[in-house]
Amino acid sequence: MPKKSIIPVFVPHLGCAHDCVFCNQRRISGQTEPMSARGADEAIRRSLDKIGYGAEIEVAFYGGSFTAIPPEEQEALLGVAANFISAGRVSSLRLSTRPDCIDADTLDRLKRYGVGTIELGSQSMCDDVLKKSGRGHTAEDTKKAAALIKERGFSLVLQMMTGLPGDTREKALFTAREIASLEPSGVRIYPTVLVRDTALYELWKSGKYKEHTVEEAVEWCADIVTVFEDAGIPVIRLGLNPTEALSEGDAAGGAYHPALGELVRSRSYLRRAEAEIEARGGSARTLGVERSQISMAVGQKKCNILALEKKFGLRGLKIIAADVKRGEIEVTE
Ligand code: SF4
Repeated sequence: MPKKSIIPVFVPHLGCAHDCVFCNQRRISGQTEPMSARGADEAIRRSLDKIGYGAEIEVAFYGGSFTAIPPEEQEALLGVAANFISAGRVSSLRLSTRPDCIDADTLDRLKRYGVGTIELGSQSMCDDVLKKSGRGHTAEDTKKAAALIKERGFSLVLQMMTGLPGDTREKALFTAREIASLEPSGVRIYPTVLVRDTALYELWKSGKYKEHTVEEAVEWCADIVTVFEDAGIPVIRLGLNPTEALSEGDAAGGAYHPALGELVRSRSYLRRAEAEIEARGGSARTLGVERSQISMAVGQKKCNILALEKKFGLRGLKIIAADVKRGEIEVTE
């Protein structure tokens, strides 16, 4: 199987008529200029030079709300990427957009240019959270857009956030279940980060918003990841991609951690292990997980082993390789 590579082309805030409280696309993507067709062409060429031949390559327009851009600008950017498909260097395109910027005409246009995957920023399936976050769309918009995208034969990826204004652990879990019921081929989970120069940052400074801490995000997302794993839906990203600018101060607080995904998966193993051991009346000596997941299940500085030993009064608990699926855990002794 050829190696898969994604060439990201960031389209910051271009054409976006909304002001979601958490968003400052320029700071999040690290890009300060709008993306022109020429800029996209150069960015793709530069990446292709680095990747070389033999990989299956996808060009991804990330960042703003792609399908909210005037159609002629969409076509200019899509046309650039489609040229690389015609030349045999790129196999397909993907892009991210808002649920209320999807209709039949838009999807026809995307199909013509070779878009294969559409990512929708659903963020929450609770209308009060969407409203407080200034999203300007409803959960129903997400359901309708998701159905239309799948009906037209695109691959659908849904993005959700945790810890937005008005969100709670229960609402975030509800959102995960609703999203799972739409049967996307993958999900991205973005716990809220406090980015400077956003409305949310100002709300937090004035005491009107309580920060979604790393620990809170890890706790909530451990349950959420389990919902998607149980539904067979891959979590393809957990947490904002770390960038220099975010790490050096643009992320003023919130759930920003370069290894957030690992922390969450490790906590998810802890929760599953607790449930398994409880089901056996609290006794266990050895737990089995898929080989590549052992260190994740053990946790940083053996934190999961220590937590389980303490909770159940166990000694010498071991985690070993077993013939189980990724994410699963079994008590072998
Ligand atoms: S719709 Fe997207 S680009 Fe526009 S403000 Fe919201 S998150 Fe940012």
